[in-house]
Amino acid sequence: MKIKSNFPINEEAFSDLQKLSEEYEIINSIEIQENDSNNKKVLKGSKEKECRFCKKHFPEVNFRNVSHTIPEFLGNKSLTSNFECDNCNKYFSAFENELANFLLPLNTLSSTKNKKNKTPKFKNKLEIHQDDKNVFHIKNFPDDLVSSNNEIDFTVETASYIPEYVYRSLIKIGLSVISEEGIKNYNETIEWLMSLEENVIIRPCMAFTIFPFSSSIDKIRCVVFDRKFNVTRQIPKTLLVLSYKNFAIQTFFPVFPFEDCTELSPFPHLIPTALDLNNNLKNEKNYGLIYLDENVRVKGKKIEINIKSAEE
Ligand SMILES: [Zn+2]
Repeated sequence: MKIKSNFPINEEAFSDLQKLSEEYEIINSIEIQENDSNNKKVLKGSKEKECRFCKKHFPEVNFRNVSHTIPEFLGNKSLTSNFECDNCNKYFSAFENELANFLLPLNTLSSTKNKKNKTPKFKNKLEIHQDDKNVFHIKNFPDDLVSSNNEIDFTVETASYIPEYVYRSLIKIGLSVISEEGIKNYNETIEWLMSLEENVIIRPCMAFTIFPFSSSIDKIRCVVFDRKFNVTRQIPKTLLVLSYKNFAIQTFFPVFPFEDCTELSPFPHLIPTALDLNNNLKNEKNYGLIYLDENVRVKGKKIEINIKSAEE
């Protein structure tokens, strides 16, 4: 494998990629330019007006809404699908709202443009907004704020969110980018998504990485990995990695009782993203595991933020 880059490669992350490829293969990978409303692309189902999720057809269900495969609040203004009916679109929006709540302070600080093509405002004790000249205004600075010449550290508390819904919205993104051919292998995952009652045996969780805000990239990427046939180790069948701006989220598709995987390690590989491969950022990331199994609203999660000026 050869990689062309304009930064020194992090060899460790590169070797992680090789290890990953021994047990998993990419089944779908998409990369879109953020805020690119001029190059619209529609992922199409094999049959016109049939919903991938509830399996219903027009005219029993309608397809009037524009269904974004990756939520608009992550900067996706171009990639939509034609296989999500209006009922399912509405059902999924409840999950997406919780992902948006969780990510809100981060999306504000990284200037990720929302549905209205604006940087969202954040207000939860601390108030952050960006004005028309891209200048940030922060009110009610937290007590724990530490600042030096070109760097500030502080903690933000996310808005309250429902962890299980955050997980569901991530899996829904994964199911939306899988090809029409590949989706046939995901009936159980779709049934789980469409019902709030189905059991999973491994506690849902995501690995969340924050790279420096100054190293933000303008591509949104989502990759779905499938376990290779010959693998005997107890590892999830499907892994998902989603990256945008200076963030990377990794999770695994739900593991069901029939899979008989009680000893399963949910994160057999930490999947390197483009920013992981940059050796200059090797010691510059913040990483944490966030459990997503509770189905009641939890109070804000504390996230440590470090903002450095881009100039050296
Ligand atoms: Zn539907």
